[in-house]
Amino acid sequence: EETLTMIPGPTPVHPAILGALARPTVSHVAPGFVAESKEAIDGFRRLCRSEKGQAFVVAGGGTLSMEMAVVNLVAPGEKLLVVSHGYFGDRFIDLAQSFGIQVDALKAEWGKVVPPAELEAKLKAGSYAAVTITHVDTSTGTLSPVAEYAKFLKGRPEMFILDGVCATGGVDERMDDWGVDVILTAPQKAIAAPPGVALVTFSERALARRQARASVPGYYADILRWLPIMQDPGKYFSTPAVNEVTALAEALRMIHREGLDARFARHARIAQAVRAGVAALGLELFTDAGNRGDTLSVIRLPEGVEDLAFRKGMAERGIVVAGGLGPIAGKTFRLGHMGNIAAGEITAVLKALEETLASLGVKVTPGAAVAAAAPFLP
Ligand code: PMP
Repeated sequence: EETLTMIPGPTPVHPAILGALARPTVSHVAPGFVAESKEAIDGFRRLCRSEKGQAFVVAGGGTLSMEMAVVNLVAPGEKLLVVSHGYFGDRFIDLAQSFGIQVDALKAEWGKVVPPAELEAKLKAGSYAAVTITHVDTSTGTLSPVAEYAKFLKGRPEMFILDGVCATGGVDERMDDWGVDVILTAPQKAIAAPPGVALVTFSERALARRQARASVPGYYADILRWLPIMQDPGKYFSTPAVNEVTALAEALRMIHREGLDARFARHARIAQAVRAGVAALGLELFTDAGNRGDTLSVIRLPEGVEDLAFRKGMAERGIVVAGGLGPIAGKTFRLGHMGNIAAGEITAVLKALEETLASLGVKVTPGAAVAAAAPFLP
C-alpha cells in the first residue's frame, strides 16, 4: 500500500513531475535543458506575480534562499527587522546574526500574529536595511497579514523580504501589488516539486540595491554571480541541479495550467474542509482563527493521546503527519494540505484520523469528519 506524505513539506509529487525527474541527466548547457531552465525561471517569476523582477533558481533549498535574500541586501553592521511568527521567523534572526547583522525582532506569541500597528510603530521609531516576514510559518501555521503589513512597508526605503517557503503556490503572493522586494521560497511545499533548489525573485529595486554594493559576504549566495546565468541559462557558474530544474519546470507548468486564482481557491477550500473535518472529531486547531494559513493545519492532540503513538497509528493507516515543533512539540501535530492534492487525499487523512483516535480510546462519531469536510472539497 502506498504511503501518503501529508507533512508541511516535502509534499506528494505528481507522477508527471516525477517523470520529469527520471529523464536522463543531460548537459547543463544542452539546448533542451536551457529551454527548460528558462521556463522554470520565467514560470517562477510569474508565480510571484512580478512583471519585471529577476527570478533565480539555484541548487540548494529554502534556507539558501533565505540567505540569498539577506546577504545581498543587508551588510554586516546594518540593521534588520524580523517579524517572527515562530521557528522559521526566528531562523532569520540566527542567520542575520551569523553575518554580523544587527537584528531587531517583533515576535508574536506562538499561534498569534504581530499586529500591523506594531510594525508601523517600529518602522517609525527606527530605520532598517530590510524587514523579513514569513508568509506562513510552518511551525505555528500562522498566516501573516501581508497585505496589511504592505501598507506600511510600501514606498519605504527598507527592503521588504517575504519568506514564501510554506506559501508560494498555495497562497496568493502579489509581489508588484504589495511592493515586495524579495520573494524567497523552495519547491517542496505548495509548488509540489521535489526539494533541491533555492528560489528567489528580486524586484528591480532590490537588484539595484545589490548592484550598488561592491561586494557581499557570500560567494555562492551572491546573486550577481548568478545573474548572467539567469538571463542566459546556457552560461555557467556552478552546475545546476539538472533533473530538479526539469521537474520544477513541469511543476510550474502544472501550476500555470491550473491558473493561480483557481489554485489558491482550491487550497482555501481544502483548508476549510480539513478544519471542518477535524472539528467534527472534537479536535482543536492551535493557530488563532483569522490567521490560519491554507497550506497546513497545526492541530492539538486530545488530552491523553500520546504524540508518537498517534503518529504511528496514522502511519499504519498509510498517512504520514509531522509532529509539533518547539514549545508545542508533543502536544500538537502538523498536517500539510498543499500542492497537487485533491479531495481523495483529504478524505483518506480524515478516515485515518478517525480510526487512529478511536484506536487510542478517543470517542469519535464514525463518518462525522468526512461528512463535515465533504461540502468544502473540490
Ligand atoms: N522557511 C519556512 C517558512 C520553512 O517552512 C522552511 C522549511 N520547513 C524553511 C524556510 C527552510 O527551508 P529548507 O528546509 O528547504 O532549507
